[in-house]
Amino acid sequence: MKYAYFSRAIFISWFCSIRDCKFCYLSSKENQSPIKDRRSLPSILAEALVCKAHGWPIEFISGGCDTYKSHELANIIEKIYEITGQKQWLNLGVLDERKLKMFKPYIDGITGTVECLTPGLREFVVPSKPLDKIEGMFEICDKLGIKKAITFIVGLGETIDDFKHLEAFVKKHHVDRITMYRLKPVKGTYYENAKGPSSEYYLSWIRKTREAFPSVELIAGMWLTHLDEVHLLFEAGADAVSKFPAIREFGTDHAFKIEEEAAKSGRKFQGSLTRLTEIDADKELMFFEWDSELKGKIKEKLTQYIALMESNIPKPLPYS
Ligand code: SF4
Repeated sequence: MKYAYFSRAIFISWFCSIRDCKFCYLSSKENQSPIKDRRSLPSILAEALVCKAHGWPIEFISGGCDTYKSHELANIIEKIYEITGQKQWLNLGVLDERKLKMFKPYIDGITGTVECLTPGLREFVVPSKPLDKIEGMFEICDKLGIKKAITFIVGLGETIDDFKHLEAFVKKHHVDRITMYRLKPVKGTYYENAKGPSSEYYLSWIRKTREAFPSVELIAGMWLTHLDEVHLLFEAGADAVSKFPAIREFGTDHAFKIEEEAAKSGRKFQGSLTRLTEIDADKELMFFEWDSELKGKIKEKLTQYIALMESNIPKPLPYS
């Protein structure tokens, strides 16, 4: 039987030095600070524990550009690697060779935030993310033996005829993984009044990608407003879905619905969005040579996350 899974991105910052991508929430956010808008390390690591316990592979470690210094990033990546026992993927903008070499022991792959490949449109949508910089990073990845992924957004103004550009790029760079999103119109951005793509159109991109690249790992972004299309995403060839707020929505009707949609597509859902796994934080953290203050804060944060997840799970009715 084929499997389906939920792929969880771990966000580490709400600051970005670029801030001109036309679809992005961070582009509309004023007064950002690379210090104030970073997530705390205990919170990041507590989330990594939750992911591991519930069978959610970490899609990538993600955030805006230039929030952290290299050694700070290395510290986060290494610790997530230690918790999960898995080399991670990064989605942190273009990284140079020095950083890639530094992170290599803990990473499996790097994500190029391509977003759009339609000539003319791409330059408008992401003016500060030139493609040649991403391609340069991919060449270094090839040299260092690091895998490559791209992100791509459907609904930015391209047409299905532009699939040829995606196909050519993926072939040229031997991309290992594609994360495809449907545009979510965000208030305060250029696309705030856009309708977003229809299910049919979004699915046609997923289907064509799978047909062209049978062995690429294909992750499809989903939205709570379009849960009925999840089984169709799997049927069209997606391996996984992402963009589900899995901690906040754990055990809700939405979470059950995703698992049902996977079953409807004939897939077995790996991991769980509805059954809580007990986490023994002391046992999980005991072998790490981290200071006790950090361990204590991770446990505190974990307790908060578990309480939130537990609060959604329906309680059995009292016996009467
Ligand atoms: S680089 Fe990424 S985080 Fe920064 S504005 Fe663009 S899409 Fe948003």
